[in-house]
Amino acid sequence: MILIDNGHGYNTAGKRSPVWSDGTQLLEWQFNRKVARELSAQLFDRNIPNCLVVPEDYDIPLNHRIERINMLCKKYDDCRLISIHANAGGGTGWEIFTSKGETQSDAWATQFIHHAERLLPFPVRKDYSDGDPDKEAGFYLLKHSHCPAVLTENLFMDREEDCRYLMSEEGVRKVVEVHLGGGWK
Ligand SMILES: [Zn+2]
Repeated sequence: MILIDNGHGYNTAGKRSPVWSDGTQLLEWQFNRKVARELSAQLFDRNIPNCLVVPEDYDIPLNHRIERINMLCKKYDDCRLISIHANAGGGTGWEIFTSKGETQSDAWATQFIHHAERLLPFPVRKDYSDGDPDKEAGFYLLKHSHCPAVLTENLFMDREEDCRYLMSEEGVRKVVEVHLGGGWK
């Protein structure tokens, strides 16, 4: 059972790209949901059970999201969680996070990384300091979920080249494909 989380909601302050010269702008909550919904549909096409943790457009606070997640973990065997985001703060490329320490999530994250390297025309940002290529952080959902969990930061919405890719059909398709490469077969 793949649990798909989309970060933020229309009521979240910030979490958006600059307005570009042609007036376009990416809102992270919208992008995250677009990827999450397409990923969910494509998993169902492959007969892989999955569930959108936050089907709502508004933001569900992290403590409520983790309650939903851990309830589903209790209900279904072999759950895995993917939280989908777009990055900001200066940089370029794609990265994936797991919780700190060596867990089942690390090997899973490495599979995503292979697909991101193959599919995306942007660098994959890696951290080998702990012996594996994913980044590790004490993010709330990663820390508190009862199942293996990864969080993807899909390019930098505050860098125009990254952002334009995320706003393109091709970009969304490729980002979904990276997540489909998670290898849960
Ligand atoms: Zn985010």
